[in-house]
Amino acid sequence: MKELILLKCGELALKGLNRRMFEDALMRNCRRRLEPLGKFKIRSSQSTIYVEPQEEGVDLDEAVDRLLKVFGVAALTRSAVVEKSFDAIRQSAPAYLADDLGRARTFKVEAKRSDKSFPMKSPELCNELGGVLLEAFPHLAVDVHQPDVTVYVEIREAGAYLHADQLHGAGGLPVGTSGRACLLISGGIDSPVAGYMMAKRGLQVMAVHFVSPPYTSEHALEKVKTLCKKLTPYCGRVRLAVVPFTRMQEAIRDNCPEELFTVIMRRYMMKLAERVAQENECGALITGESVAQVASQTIQAIACTDVACQMPVLRPVIGMDKDEIVKIAYRIDTFETSILPYEDCCTVFTPRHPRTKPRLEMVLKAEQAMDEQLLEEAFAGIEYCNIG
Ligand code: ATP
Ligand code: MG
Repeated sequence: MKELILLKCGELALKGLNRRMFEDALMRNCRRRLEPLGKFKIRSSQSTIYVEPQEEGVDLDEAVDRLLKVFGVAALTRSAVVEKSFDAIRQSAPAYLADDLGRARTFKVEAKRSDKSFPMKSPELCNELGGVLLEAFPHLAVDVHQPDVTVYVEIREAGAYLHADQLHGAGGLPVGTSGRACLLISGGIDSPVAGYMMAKRGLQVMAVHFVSPPYTSEHALEKVKTLCKKLTPYCGRVRLAVVPFTRMQEAIRDNCPEELFTVIMRRYMMKLAERVAQENECGALITGESVAQVASQTIQAIACTDVACQMPVLRPVIGMDKDEIVKIAYRIDTFETSILPYEDCCTVFTPRHPRTKPRLEMVLKAEQAMDEQLLEEAFAGIEYCNIG
């Protein structure tokens, strides 16, 4: 028996003339994600994308898993395709649906006939198939209002499609259709979640990470690479820029008031990230800031960092509680990596009493003691790698 995967493309349907472009991007992303698993034919017809394995022994469970993480997919159905005859349907249905129906107490059948030459009408098809399934699974009862499982049988051009309820997809928009943005990624919990959230809105995400050796270790950088890798099932390949930040941080420590250390360091991060973003054709920055979570994230501190660059700064977790962010981190499997105890450059030279309400004039004045050449130096030392 042949099986295929049907994808429904949620929000894409709303995009009018752009729809073709969105569907093409979605198919391209699906193709990339499935490439390591074998040959698939992927095509679209009437806002459904058909994913058909083209060789024997393809791991369809893994294909489903991967496609459930592709943004732009609203719903996914794994379906059997059988010959267009009731005999073939009757013979395949019980075994194919055994998993779903074995767990259910009630069910109903829905039939759709887009090929009107099929001799049975939909209500008859529902009744007959319902009867077959009741016989095969005597513990089941029919409930047409709130069944545990709905069995669908669709008579289409290419054959009869047979499947149980669809699965929820990742939603959102296909990565790449909203342009590119640059994520400031730390080793923490919040920034990977922020990157995931913006990829969901169709942004191709690249990442920038600041390192301060010897204060930060090689482990800390490896951890960030692992986090990028964990984002790839959702974001696709992630380009990572690693910025040497030691000299900058030492200069801030040596020349600026201790209580302003964090806000000044964050401003230099934004300046450098903006340059990385420009260099890589990104239209925005992304951070994992959340109001009042730490001293550098009061509204006054955010006001000071926000004006350090011109690009829009997207802060998707700005209004979320930590436990809400953690929930997402669990779901996308970044949490366990994020809590590994390696030093981030944000935690070196942390002031004992950071000013929680810095004023911009104060900050600008303090920065006059800084040698702007250090920005050039950090920028020149950037190393890139592609992850995924
Ligand atoms: P996170 O959990 O993302 O580390 P946080 O709550 O620990 O966030 P901060 O350490 O103040 O907050 O950092 C705020 C934001 O600054 C981070 O979400 C991230 O976007 C950025 N950031 C912090 N450290 C780095 C770094 N070493 N490299 C790149 N970006 C960083
Ligand atoms: Mg952090």
